[in-house]
Amino acid sequence: MKLDATFINDRKNDLEQRKNELLKELNMDAVKVTGDDYDARFPDFGEKEDENAAEVAMFEKNLSMEKTLEVSLFNVKRALEKIEAGNYGICEKCGAPINPKRLEAFPSASTCMECKKKSL
Ligand SMILES: [Zn+2]
Repeated sequence: MKLDATFINDRKNDLEQRKNELLKELNMDAVKVTGDDYDARFPDFGEKEDENAAEVAMFEKNLSMEKTLEVSLFNVKRALEKIEAGNYGICEKCGAPINPKRLEAFPSASTCMECKKKSL
């Protein structure tokens, strides 16, 4: 079964939109951007002990948020590359076509539902 061009084009639009949202979130105060690399920002609240503790707590929050966003962005970019390469919608693990319903709900999916279930 081959995905039709309209379907792929719709997913491409979804992915582009998602990419822009992610880039916007990554460019917020919590994250420091260096070229293509993103790092959680270490906040500066002051030198007092409670301020230092608050900085560490904030940094940990920024760090986990930054990781999540960066992984999502990576997956979105990879899905877009696959559209360009013409192998979008193929499971990376078993090579089977990914259910279009799954791609609609989750356009950056790189594995089919069966493989996803196995990896959980
Ligand atoms: Zn699979």
